[in-house]
Amino acid sequence: MSVPTKKRYDELLKLLETYAYEYYVLDEPSVDDAVYDSLMAEVKTFENANPGSINPNSPTQRVAAKPLEKFKKVAHQKPMISLNDVFSRDEVEAWVRRMDKLLPGTTHEFFCDIKKDGLACALIYQDGVLTQAVTRGDSRVGEDVTANVRTIKSVPLQLRRDSDTAGFLSGRTEIRGEIVMLKDDFDRLNKQRVAANLPPFKNPRNLAAGTIRQLDPKLVAERPLTFIGYDLLRDDASEVPTNMYAYQTLRKLGIYASSEATVFTSLDDVMHFVDHWDKARHDLPYNTDGLVVKVNDRGAYEKLGVVGKNPRAAVAYKYAAEQATTIVKDIVISIGRTGAATPVAVFDPVDVAGTTVQHASLHNADEIERKDVRVGDTVVIFKAGDIIPQVEKVLTELRPKGTQPFDYPSELARQYPELEFVRATGEAVYRVKGATGPLLLKRALQHFASKGALDIDTLGEKNVVALVDAGYVKDLADIYALTKEDLLKLDRFAEISARKLIDAISGKRQPPLERFVYGLGIRHVGVQTAIDLVNHFGSLDALASATLEELEGVEGVGKVVAESITAWFADQDNQRLLEKFTELGVRPQFEKKSGKLTGQSFVVTGTLESMGRDEAAEKIRALGGIFQSSVAKDTTYLVAGGKVGASKLKKAESYGTKIIDERALLDLLK
Ligand code: NAD
Repeated sequence: MSVPTKKRYDELLKLLETYAYEYYVLDEPSVDDAVYDSLMAEVKTFENANPGSINPNSPTQRVAAKPLEKFKKVAHQKPMISLNDVFSRDEVEAWVRRMDKLLPGTTHEFFCDIKKDGLACALIYQDGVLTQAVTRGDSRVGEDVTANVRTIKSVPLQLRRDSDTAGFLSGRTEIRGEIVMLKDDFDRLNKQRVAANLPPFKNPRNLAAGTIRQLDPKLVAERPLTFIGYDLLRDDASEVPTNMYAYQTLRKLGIYASSEATVFTSLDDVMHFVDHWDKARHDLPYNTDGLVVKVNDRGAYEKLGVVGKNPRAAVAYKYAAEQATTIVKDIVISIGRTGAATPVAVFDPVDVAGTTVQHASLHNADEIERKDVRVGDTVVIFKAGDIIPQVEKVLTELRPKGTQPFDYPSELARQYPELEFVRATGEAVYRVKGATGPLLLKRALQHFASKGALDIDTLGEKNVVALVDAGYVKDLADIYALTKEDLLKLDRFAEISARKLIDAISGKRQPPLERFVYGLGIRHVGVQTAIDLVNHFGSLDALASATLEELEGVEGVGKVVAESITAWFADQDNQRLLEKFTELGVRPQFEKKSGKLTGQSFVVTGTLESMGRDEAAEKIRALGGIFQSSVAKDTTYLVAGGKVGASKLKKAESYGTKIIDERALLDLLK
């Protein structure tokens, strides 16, 4: 993630403040938690890079929000702080290393539990009797919600006594936990509401939080809430030596504490627990937003202390978010195999549901207009069906000044000046005028099989037409699935000619990568660009996932070419096509050409006597050299086949390019 500017940092703080207010005070968030977390990550990136400019009102500096005026305020005896997030094993290991440094010899006993997504609340018992219930509030001061909490059936008004717990029934015992609404209860409640023609509630977390902060306890009693304990505090902390002991005692006192909580001594086991609940968490009766991992020993826990607003001895392990925010860098247009134009948003790479994504289809003209996605916008990305990234919406509050709505027709004209597009009345899709699917496919296949590309003998124009018209080939990869029997059904083929074609295709299952890339027919990617790209990225995967900036970093690749490459790889049909090639056993090979001409580039002007331009290019490349179409800053040699024009001469001189004749070239090629 790139470091945001100070201006954006300020804007982020403003927006997060609004979100926090909606979430903590109104219990009515307007965005998903993942959106909040994603913007918060940007804030943290800025603050890590600019520790001197941290705004004291930043959400990183405080917990939750101010308590509501309508409730009596109660100061917590011990602050109810929040937890640092971690997202990977690496981060867990780093956390453990930090603790080891501060407190060498700390036993590696990790107490792991599921993190419930509800509202934190402290229950205060005096001599075993519930006297007060207080929300977390701003961590130091919370709201007195005793009357409401008393209606929750899983909150005992009197703690249970048994032989082990007698001590906890004298003096002050504070029990902290999460108030949640179980998924089943939530669904039942919503069914009743729908039946009564009332709008359904959005989600259990906000309903639980909103309910507890109602002024009317009768209303609270009508909504099923559950209290799940996670902490037990006594004035003498040594009465609770470990977190596991706290859970065992909570249960004996009559408080539910999760049975899933486990202590592990190795990080492998911790990560196994993490992985297990990543899948199994959806079956839990309540919603969770991750796991909590704590040092089990409470003495060590206390000694490790607090940094900022988080304890050092605990972390929240967050699972891959299903939504994230990112900034739109560009909107490129891809032309699919049917000639349909699809706008695609290109953005800073971002992790969504476990994978890194950097583009999302904006589908068509209507969709792009409806969502009003603009270059420079901060957008919310989610994964539809867990696979295809989509833009959910634009956070217009973060829109930079001076952006323009995406002008689709003029962008089509800019990105595809040589094509004409039509949009049928009532249709949302622009299509290339006059081009039909089969026609485009025939052209594409001819190019794929051509000499400069895969050079598939015998797959010339007539065969291409026959195969496409017969419906045997619906995309480029289909040729690898052809059988001799298929071909024999066509008039054009007999035993020998069919075998010849099948063998020719089969012989190109491991084409040189640069030829393959050229053969894909990506606009603006000619032979030399394909070579440069392949030499730069080294693999098809690396090329496919290159960002616009990375592409523009390749010599000779400018904005238009980079956009065109991005658009091609962002197209879902093209992604499927590449998968299909792989499934059919096509494995393009990358071999970095190096030879005596490596690092040298050539331009040939005029006509050579001993060979054609293509042959010259081929020979130069075979020795690792670069064949360029016009003199550029990095051109080493201008090969003059005849007289060189004055302007070319001047350009070559200004770049320090050596001008040589055909004989000198032949010497170099020897
Ligand atoms: P946190 O994520 O730092 O976690 C700490 C809390 O986890 C504890 O206070 C406790 O209440 C809870 N918890 C649940 N189960 C626990 C267990 N088994 N053991 C210990 N603690 C447990 O809490 P936070 O500071 O409230 O985090 C902010 C959260 O609120 C984020 O997930 C954020 O996305 C969300 N939020 C969302 C919006 C929005 O607009 N959608 C706005 C603000 C905050």
